[in-house]
Amino acid sequence: MSPTKIKIRDNEFLDITWDDGITRSIKLSNLRLNCPCAVCIAEKDEWSSSYIPLYTLEQLKITKIEIIGNYALGIKWEDGHDTGLYDYKYLLQLFDKYSKS
Ligand SMILES: [Zn+2]
Repeated sequence: MSPTKIKIRDNEFLDITWDDGITRSIKLSNLRLNCPCAVCIAEKDEWSSSYIPLYTLEQLKITKIEIIGNYALGIKWEDGHDTGLYDYKYLLQLFDKYSKS
């Protein structure tokens, strides 16, 4: 599947409509928390399971979303972090994970 429409809602959610016609939403904080880049993954490795990350407003604001090739979204955050490439498969897993909680 690939996105047909991408929208940031209330500075809190990312809404993506996919080509199955269904719009899925995720909180920006959950999106940032699951940034798949090497830096963030290394950071997460050091957290204990009870650690809850705190984000600044800059870290939770998206300034740019780019479609990379035909398979991923590149998200640039206001604090300058832009190394996370969210491939569509990974995104759909995230949407799925958080829609159940
Ligand atoms: Zn990252």
